[in-house]
Amino acid sequence: MNKSIITFAIAATVGMGTIFGGVPGKTEAESISSLKGEQNKIHDKRTNIQSGINQANSKINTLKSQQADVKSEMKRLDFAIDDTITKIDDKSEKIKNTKAEITKLQAETKVIQERIKKRNVLLKDRARSYQENGGMVNYLDVLMGSTSFSDFIDRANAVATIMQADQDIIKQHEADKVELAQKQAKVEKDLSSLEKMLADLKNMNQQLNEQKKEKDKLLASLKDQEEEAHEGMMELQEEEQILAAQEAAIKQAIQNEKEAQRRAAEEAKRNTNSNNGNNSGSQSIPAPNVSGGSWTQPAAGYRSSGFGGRGDGNHYGVDIANGTKVPIVAAANGVVIRSYYSSTYGNCIFVSHSINGQVYTTVYAHMTQRYVGSGASVKKGQKIGLMGNTGASRGQHLHFELHKGPWTQDKRYAINPVGIVPLP
Ligand SMILES: [Zn+2]
Repeated sequence: MNKSIITFAIAATVGMGTIFGGVPGKTEAESISSLKGEQNKIHDKRTNIQSGINQANSKINTLKSQQADVKSEMKRLDFAIDDTITKIDDKSEKIKNTKAEITKLQAETKVIQERIKKRNVLLKDRARSYQENGGMVNYLDVLMGSTSFSDFIDRANAVATIMQADQDIIKQHEADKVELAQKQAKVEKDLSSLEKMLADLKNMNQQLNEQKKEKDKLLASLKDQEEEAHEGMMELQEEEQILAAQEAAIKQAIQNEKEAQRRAAEEAKRNTNSNNGNNSGSQSIPAPNVSGGSWTQPAAGYRSSGFGGRGDGNHYGVDIANGTKVPIVAAANGVVIRSYYSSTYGNCIFVSHSINGQVYTTVYAHMTQRYVGSGASVKKGQKIGLMGNTGASRGQHLHFELHKGPWTQDKRYAINPVGIVPLP
């Protein structure tokens, strides 16, 4: 790694020194020292890459393991909820059956009550017939009226038979009533216990669902944190590629600036007319008017997030949000460092600018389409892509970064573009 940095440093110093040598108002020595400054910035950055990436990686791993814990807790809750739902269904079914049983018992009670009513009528009829036949007003009269002992025995037997029959009927009535009352009491007890169980289960189910909702919230917040961590973190390889490309782009951007200065008037005219659009369709929202000066607004829309802050993470850019088809334009003349898809930035373009001898880098992230490739020279206001929602993004917006100097993974040269780049 050290060897590659040294080789790279020498190559850059030699390569860029010749270019800077031609910038008006600067001596060769000043240009070399300025270049060395740029070089040191990139060198510092490289020595810090690994620890930065390690830190971000360990944060992401912690967040991932926390998410795994929450997910397994949610799985447990899901099983518990499934279980209560099964039990609720079971109890509900039993309650339905018990209620049907109660209805059946009520019908049976009605039948038995009818029967009792009929038997009562029967007994009354019999009592009445005894009275109507005379002499058999009551059992005692019957017995007292016997004419002989054998007559008495006959009468006594008859009375006993009748009394037994009456008693049997009464016993049967009572037995029927008791049985029904017992049945009903038991079933009603079953019902109330079932209903209590059901209420408990529903209560438990509600509690479990509330717990799950809490876990959902926790998981969402962990995911957010992971996204933030990702946004500040890239694969080492990806970063190295950006760095390498950046060097070439810086050289090209400086050369372009020199040429632009030589052909000032003619070039300025061409710049304002260079909004060439790449035929992005008819429904597209127009790109903002190209401003005079070095910078122009990169996209039309509203500012949905400013520079700095945003929770505990840092936001090293400005977000511009807007509706369907929104062109993204280069904020200044420059050279495309990289145009590629990143898992964090989504479709993104890095542009290197050299403005009055100062290197700037702009980043346009989360695009749905890219119109320019790595190494392309772009003009201020030239359409370079379409606003989108790719990568670690929630909702369509342009994430725009401005770096005074090279882009670095730790974004140490990121500055608030407000007051420099026209913004909505
Ligand atoms: Zn952003």
